[in-house]
Amino acid sequence: MNTHKTTPGTVTLVGAGPGDPELLTLKAVRAIASASLLLVDDLVNDAVLEHASPHARIVHVGKRGGCASTPQAFIEKLMIMAAREGETVVRLKGGDPFVFGRGGEEVEHLTAEGIPVTVVNGITSGLAAASSLNVPLTHRDQAHGVVFVTGHAKPGDTGTDWAALARCAHQAKLTLVIYMGISSAHAIESGLLQGLPAHTPLAVVQHASLPHQRHVCTTLGQLCQTLTAHRLGSPSIIVVGDVLQGLAQATHPAADLQNSPASSLALAA
Ligand code: SAH
Repeated sequence: MNTHKTTPGTVTLVGAGPGDPELLTLKAVRAIASASLLLVDDLVNDAVLEHASPHARIVHVGKRGGCASTPQAFIEKLMIMAAREGETVVRLKGGDPFVFGRGGEEVEHLTAEGIPVTVVNGITSGLAAASSLNVPLTHRDQAHGVVFVTGHAKPGDTGTDWAALARCAHQAKLTLVIYMGISSAHAIESGLLQGLPAHTPLAVVQHASLPHQRHVCTTLGQLCQTLTAHRLGSPSIIVVGDVLQGLAQATHPAADLQNSPASSLALAA
């Protein structure tokens, strides 16, 4: 006998944005409010859960608080089982589900199991990091394009060829937005220096869009030194490129910036 409900459930992958709950889309709010089961990733601000129904079940599947994160395969099984039970499942992910969020793998698995899946975009942290500094990622004079790239490859993968990327960025005038780059900062700095000048402006933005945001503006050649000096850790975005030029000139060690909404540490390049 088929124990499944006749009305099949659905899964919606929802981007919760970079942290500031006001950066949620209206569509995300509606999806959160209609969920019967919410699976919440790391880096999702708990404030967005205020939109959830009081009857919804909320399960944290990230690794914050020192707990081990729930294995990806288990999360996917949970979503499939819950949807088959007729639940309205919302998978809340930091930033955008399709930018380094493993949303692609989840859509593939859910679709293969015949589960209807929808994706609601969120503002990715790379965008929020640059905007928090009033820096555009593209600019007609300084950058013709932008590359979102991860500093953290899948185990067994050789990872990004930073030297090749730097040469391409230099020739094609591209801004680099590096996610998960803090632990590989040495490899990133030395690799990028093979194709970009040491004085290329660089910014590190930690906790973008949140009240405890910190950022440092420096140069490519000073990346590792700056991370150590200012004890910047994860989650951070590293932005590299000439779009930061004005910022490097305009932000001198700025005590006044420390009182800005995004409390900042700024160094002249
Ligand atoms: N899907 C997410 C990215 C997940 S990968 C998105 O679109 O933003 C996790 C990485 O994202 C972190 O290591 C960090 O590099 C970046 N990140 C996420 N939130 C951040 C924030 N508020 N400030 C700075 N970096 C952030």
